[in-house]
Amino acid sequence: MIDQLPHMQKMMRGLQQVPFLASKNVYRVMSHFLKMESQQLEAFCKTLVEAHAGLIECSVCFAWQEKNGTCLYCSDRSRDHSIVCVVATWQDLLMIERTRSFSGVYHVLGGVIFPLNGIGPDDLTVDELVQRVDESVKEIVFTINQTPEGEATAAFIAKKLQGRNVYLSCLAKGIPIGAMLEGIDKITIHKAMQGRHPF
Ligand SMILES: [Zn+2]
Repeated sequence: MIDQLPHMQKMMRGLQQVPFLASKNVYRVMSHFLKMESQQLEAFCKTLVEAHAGLIECSVCFAWQEKNGTCLYCSDRSRDHSIVCVVATWQDLLMIERTRSFSGVYHVLGGVIFPLNGIGPDDLTVDELVQRVDESVKEIVFTINQTPEGEATAAFIAKKLQGRNVYLSCLAKGIPIGAMLEGIDKITIHKAMQGRHPF
């Protein structure tokens, strides 16, 4: 049916490239956009383009920052720069920040090693992490989802840091195995952060 509506088909193909947009939601999203006033839609598109142009990943921790500004975490002198919390995604960083249980700095890996999906260490910021671990870094906290891929990623990094004078820790097993940090309540994450132990 949709193939008889070229504009619709083109729009659908575009939206299908958006990860996390479940196929059953594509039609709802399409309807939403089509019903928007053109001015409203133009403003929406402009917001996306401007955000894309105005934000950049920090060159140290890879969290998003304003292109013309400084990193909220790396440039904060009140934070403890000797402890680095390693997270898979920026969303995970936000979850930890919400708990207010961590006052160190971060390192966003950009995902986890997932050979089946073709994601290897070179697709992540593993090398950048290993490079930034110098004398000033005393502890690395692996705050990665406790999935087989997450555990393997932490183990890979731990191996790369072997011989360095840095304490490696990970979250306590208070978080259900296989659960995603994004869906976990603040208290559980807070308790897990407090009870971290040697990796
Ligand atoms: Zn940063």
